[in-house]
Amino acid sequence: MKVDLLIKNGNVVFPKEGVRKVNIGVDGEKIVGIFDPEMKVEANETLDVTGLYVMPGVIDAHQHLGIYNSVEEDFRDTKQHAVGGITTVVNYDRQPVSYLEFFPKVRQIGEENSYIDFSYSLGILTEQHIDELEEVVKTFGLTSFKFFRNYERRLNDIFKIDNGINLSSMDLMRILEKMKEISPKLILGVHCENMDINRALTAELMQQDVDDTLATWSKTSPGYAEAESLLSTLYLNHIVGGNIFAVHISSGASVDVLEKVPWLLETGVTIETCPHYLTLTEESETGLHAKVGPPIHSKWDQDRLWEGIEKGLINAIGTDHVPNSRNVKFATGEGVWDAKFGFPGAGALLPLMITEGHKKRGIPLERIAQITSYQIAKAFNLEEKGKIEVGADADFAIVDLETTKTITPELMHAQSDYSVYEGMETVGWPVYTINRGEIIVKDGQPTKELGRGKYIRRSI
Ligand SMILES: [Zn+2]
Repeated sequence: MKVDLLIKNGNVVFPKEGVRKVNIGVDGEKIVGIFDPEMKVEANETLDVTGLYVMPGVIDAHQHLGIYNSVEEDFRDTKQHAVGGITTVVNYDRQPVSYLEFFPKVRQIGEENSYIDFSYSLGILTEQHIDELEEVVKTFGLTSFKFFRNYERRLNDIFKIDNGINLSSMDLMRILEKMKEISPKLILGVHCENMDINRALTAELMQQDVDDTLATWSKTSPGYAEAESLLSTLYLNHIVGGNIFAVHISSGASVDVLEKVPWLLETGVTIETCPHYLTLTEESETGLHAKVGPPIHSKWDQDRLWEGIEKGLINAIGTDHVPNSRNVKFATGEGVWDAKFGFPGAGALLPLMITEGHKKRGIPLERIAQITSYQIAKAFNLEEKGKIEVGADADFAIVDLETTKTITPELMHAQSDYSVYEGMETVGWPVYTINRGEIIVKDGQPTKELGRGKYIRRSI
């Protein structure tokens, strides 16, 4: 047998089974063989990865490219993603216009600028979006959407429009119903946050003389505001029999709820959390750089989220990556009410999960591979991704578990001038990243040009 590329002598992390010493054969874009190390295989190119761990390429399904900068500029940030082992992103966008007209434009920008493979999730904001859903799915092979409970009854103000839907519970149910009719493979990302609570507490705090800290920000939306909204979302989804992906779960209270309702989690539910909720607290030095919604809470919340991962309640990690630099983040001031939402950080996802999850907490590497790749591919209907098996896309993050690196924006090749993780000591950085058979990072350095990434159509 002869292959294009042979990855040999690595510790291969199979998401469903565990770690095995095998060699992997790649032909073109696909994995064509998993070989016993003794077996003789000829190859055009051989990568000896002795001592390293071969993980499935990371899929980050929570990106916001194009919020503060142009979509074009932000897609260039995907180079930092590759340096961190990410081989596929799913980007969110939401615009109160017809997606049949809008989407081809951003897809083209992605194709011209992305360093890695990408797909999209689109926010449902108007009746037109609901009416055009089926055509959007079939025309673009786009099978994931988003529902913003945090914009409930405020869409028209936020987007300066007059045709926004209320984003009520009834809207949530009829959208899930409609998606189910189109295909059981569609999935709805839901931002869970009870905004009656959030808005009332925020208004109260704004009247007071508060500190400009993450701890103040945390008080605007306590864990129970998320947990209440999550529970109602799970229950309504259960009534419809739909598929939801609860994005960026941030609180211990939500884990408390999840633990008590296994019957609501049996089908059609994936729960996501983010590296910042797992590694930072409201006391962290980075301060308001890490202002985000929902807020980062306490050490107790952080520990409960890790327990949620260990118990299989939380099955996905996404970064909520928002490219911006300090001058944009603090354009209107550095106070708690002035700092803008969101921060970059996708590149650090895998090293943080390996350092904090595997090394410090003993979570097996196969579990890390599940929540950073396999389960996300499954939830987002990315059929060729997220696994190391014959026929799958040859996407790998080949990581070094021994060498310690200190996080800086430069280390990640980030466009931004800050990182909320700056100064953290981490292991698990890729020596190689491979996307569809192509080595795109070598010795931690990007080796290819932007615009090589492919839009991934998804079938129903
Ligand atoms: Zn987000």
